Amino acid sequence: MPSMDSISRGLVLDSLKEYAKRRLPYDLIRDLDQANEFPAEILKEMYDPAVLGVHLLMIPEEYGGVSGGTYDICRVCEALARIDLGIATGVFATFLGTDPVNVGGTQEQKNKWLNKIAKENLMVAYAATEADAGSDLINLRTRAEHVVKNGKIAGYRITGNKQWISNGGVADLYTVLAMAPGGPSWFIVERNMEGFAPNKHEDKHGIRLSNTAALALDNVYVPVENLIGLEEGKGLLQAQAVFGYTRLMVAAFGLGAGWEALEQAIRYSQQRIQAGGPLSDKQGYTHKLIVPHAARLEAARAYIEYTANRLDGGEHGLQTEGAIAKYSATENGNKAAEDAIQALGGYGYTRDFPVEKIKRDIKITCIYEGTSEIMEMTMYRGRWQEHLKSRGRYYLDMADEMDKLHSSVHDCGAYAAGLALRALGAVI
Ligand SMILES: Cc1cc2nc3c(=O)[nH]c(=O)nc-3n(C[C@H](O)[C@H](O)[C@H](O)COP(=O)(O)OP(=O)(O)OC[C@H]3O[C@@H](n4cnc5c(N)ncnc54)[C@H](O)[C@@H]3O)c2cc1C
Repeated sequence: MPSMDSISRGLVLDSLKEYAKRRLPYDLIRDLDQANEFPAEILKEMYDPAVLGVHLLMIPEEYGGVSGGTYDICRVCEALARIDLGIATGVFATFLGTDPVNVGGTQEQKNKWLNKIAKENLMVAYAATEADAGSDLINLRTRAEHVVKNGKIAGYRITGNKQWISNGGVADLYTVLAMAPGGPSWFIVERNMEGFAPNKHEDKHGIRLSNTAALALDNVYVPVENLIGLEEGKGLLQAQAVFGYTRLMVAAFGLGAGWEALEQAIRYSQQRIQAGGPLSDKQGYTHKLIVPHAARLEAARAYIEYTANRLDGGEHGLQTEGAIAKYSATENGNKAAEDAIQALGGYGYTRDFPVEKIKRDIKITCIYEGTSEIMEMTMYRGRWQEHLKSRGRYYLDMADEMDKLHSSVHDCGAYAAGLALRALGAVI
């Protein structure tokens, strides 16, 4: 996907910041968090093109969207996460729910559904997870049975239960993964279809402004045109195809929320006087609670941008890179938020200061869209394959490049990186 030019992207980011400043003061966010309330009106406004039209980013121009590139979407995700990760999740769920159509839909399906999502500002949900199928989606129990009329498949009857679905209780449209006779497949389910019932809004540890609900599907009839791609058995491949890209968005959530917590700590450290001076003057404080997090988050940002630029340049897949970006940004963001509470001392432990909420919110980024342990497995598997394909040269070639860089630019860290890469190559 092509990227927006920097002026257009800047305008989108500025509008988002200005909207949040005007409509989402921290007091309101804190009250909604305590009340466990999904801010339906806010999300509606954010989807409205006259206000922000944030859902249009994921939709190509020919279907009424604005064709945001991966880099653009990551920047918006980072900005959303700095406002509130629950609200960010309400937007992300629509991005994610739209993806199976974007990736696997036929031309006709894209025409119909993407145009509808864009024009009617539909809220979408992505329903893959089940009680016994989280990390291990192949365990999926939801079934889609053929409905045959005049000797032809006319549609499907879907029966099963989905778990932890973002926007589950509030979406207009759902992309649902179900086991068809030909294998796992995505189906488009509309909220008003008979037999479809969302469950109650979950009472969660964090992202309490995001609606999360289980879904019950009892013999829900969908016409054959709602089978995404009109071919059974492609569901897991279609889900896999976008992981490099969707995990980058969650990485941007970790980056945004982590930096928001860190900046709160930095501001506090400049004002809080202890032992005769501000905390920001004390190395025991800054070099433990601030500096390491700033370095780790900026390294994660560099990797997110590197991967986004490769995807925008037309490369496909990049699941391992997506996993590296998600793992480093979310784990480091989570640690930064944890230390931001420490940096504010007793005040950080109260609900009056946003760091307490950010810490609760950010934990989900290490869980949804693939847990950190699944990211570790993905990285190990991907890099092991590269190691075998290159006959052991994968890390050694990178080390050679670092050595070359070191010979022209001395103090950039390339020498140490080269040594580390050689060690990694030797270990593997
Ligand atoms: C707030 C929220 C919103 C969500 N939104 C959505 C959504 O919109 N759509 C959707 O489809 N899903 C959604 N999910 C589901 C989410 O993606 C899953 O919870 C996640 O993938 C983990 O699955 P699980 O909860 O079944 O945990 P499990 O898979 O049971 O994992 C439990 C633990 O075991 C570890 N583990 C599992 N397998 C392995 C392994 N092979 N090796 C090592 N460790 C392993 C995991 O890392 C984890 O620590 C959401 C979840 C939450 C909590």
